[in-house]
Amino acid sequence: MKDKPLNEMLKVESVSILMRLLRDFGRNTLPLLSRKVPFIQKQFVAATIVSLREIVNEDFHVIVEPRNQVERLLARKDTDIHMYENYSLYFNRIAVLLNLQEPNMHGEARLLDPMGNIKKDMGLISSEEYHYTNDIKFLERMKYQFYQSCGRNTECIICIFSHHVPCTLKTHQCARLIDEFSKRTNEFLIISYEEVFYDTDEDEAWNILSHNSNIFCLHPFYFCPPKKSDKNIETYLLPWDEEEEPVCRRISRRLIRGLSNKRYRTEKKKRKSFCRHSEVLEFHVHEEI
Ligand SMILES: [Zn+2]
Repeated sequence: MKDKPLNEMLKVESVSILMRLLRDFGRNTLPLLSRKVPFIQKQFVAATIVSLREIVNEDFHVIVEPRNQVERLLARKDTDIHMYENYSLYFNRIAVLLNLQEPNMHGEARLLDPMGNIKKDMGLISSEEYHYTNDIKFLERMKYQFYQSCGRNTECIICIFSHHVPCTLKTHQCARLIDEFSKRTNEFLIISYEEVFYDTDEDEAWNILSHNSNIFCLHPFYFCPPKKSDKNIETYLLPWDEEEEPVCRRISRRLIRGLSNKRYRTEKKKRKSFCRHSEVLEFHVHEEI
């Protein structure tokens, strides 16, 4: 499996469905987290581990049961949430992580570098801080669950949806950290996001991540606003609903034409315009169809 880049093994459409589910899952857990933490942050990381087969088959049942759990908890309105621990929620193969203040860790680092080893080697934390870094090992827990359900010999793909694009902030460097993690472990990762923090260079982050063939970066361009009528997971698992989401129809048309993430980025750069979402969609539709 490792002899091919990840983006040649997966359809953008399938990855889009998964990342949209993961984003919505993370968003839906924020009211639960707000019952446990002193203030709620916009930034969150929702992560899961899936197999290549699950993505190819668009079998995302790994999200169904946790999602039902979240809905039950939201309805109860109490603060007894047993999956809460240290600014995070953990369900079987999914974790939702907020940034930590003490020690100061972003969600991506909490997941991929809980002991701070990579950040220390990258010169991002001092030896003093390093001794203090000892976060929960979410990835180990998730992998254990993954191997229990998918079998020891199944290759896993780590999927991370971060509200903000993995940052390029001096002291955190989450984009570089993800790249470094992948190089050290040879693991496959899928990364997506929907906003850019004002102090992060999106193009730099994208360049770092997309030059790694084990990382599949999905641009937020592929996300559609969630439909208000969505009541249950099955609705999300259906293909794009063309009638209610004209933007998605345009995305689908473009996906069918096989336009890759990479080409989209190149074209965007050529035009040197920073237009996003629907504006970019219109540009492609008019120019290419
Ligand atoms: Zn960061």
